[in-house]
Amino acid sequence: MISVENVSFEYGEGGFRLHIPHLSLRERERLAIVGPSGSGKTTLLNLIAGILLPKSGRIDIDGTDVTGLSDAERRQFRASHIGFVFQDFALLDYLSARQNILYPYRITPALKLDADARSRAEALADACGIGDKLDRHPAALSQGEQQRVAICRALVTQPKLILSDEATGNLDPESKGRILDLLFQQAADVGATVLAVTHDHELLPRFERVIDFAQYREVAAA
Ligand code: ADP
Ligand code: MG
Repeated sequence: MISVENVSFEYGEGGFRLHIPHLSLRERERLAIVGPSGSGKTTLLNLIAGILLPKSGRIDIDGTDVTGLSDAERRQFRASHIGFVFQDFALLDYLSARQNILYPYRITPALKLDADARSRAEALADACGIGDKLDRHPAALSQGEQQRVAICRALVTQPKLILSDEATGNLDPESKGRILDLLFQQAADVGATVLAVTHDHELLPRFERVIDFAQYREVAAA
C-alpha cells in the first residue's frame, strides 16, 4: 500500500535531516509511530501526503509514485486518496465545523458533495460527540472538539489511507479509545490503511505494528 524507499529530506541547507532507508505498510495495516518530539514524525507524514517533497528517494502509495507527480496532481491525489488528521488540526476559522468537515469536497473536483457525503459528515460528527456543534466556528469549540472536527474531515471522503498525527492528543482518556475505535472502524469499512503518530502508549496494543522513530534520527545524525 505504501512504500518509502531511501527517502532523504532536509529543511533548507543545514536544517533538520531525515533519512528513511525503507518503510512499507500493507493494505489495511494499522501502524503506529512513536518517537521523541522533533524526531521527524510529522515530517514523514507530510512527505507521504505529498505536502513536502523528498530530496531523493521514492514514495509509492497504492501503485502511484507520488514523488513523480506535479504539484497539482499531488494535491488531487492527496484529496482523493488520503485523509490527514493534522497535529495542529488546520481548521479554517471562517468556516463552521460542518463546512470544515466537508471542505475536501470544495477543493476536489473529483469528489461530489452529494446527500451521502452530507449524511456521512453528520453521522461521523454524531459518533465523535460533536453532532450538536456543527454550526459553530472553530473559535467556539474546545481543543478536543476541534480535534474531533479534524478527525471527521479526514474520514468523510472514505480515503484509502488515513494519516493521523497525534489525533487523540487533546482528548480525555475515555474519549481517546472511543475515537480510535471509530477511526479503525471507518478504516475497516472501506479497507483503508492507517498510519498514526501517537504519544498515547496505552493505545499501542490496538495497532498491528509499532515503529520507534528514534532509529531514523540516529541514521540522520550519522
Ligand atoms: P516530530 O513530529 O517528530 O515532533 P517534526 O517532523 O515536526 O518532528 O520536526 C522535525 C525537526 O524538523 C524538528 O527539529 C523541527 O524543528 C524541524 N522542522 C519542522 N518543520 C520545519 C520547517 N518548516 N522548517 C525548518 N525546520 C522544521
Ligand atoms: Mg509532530
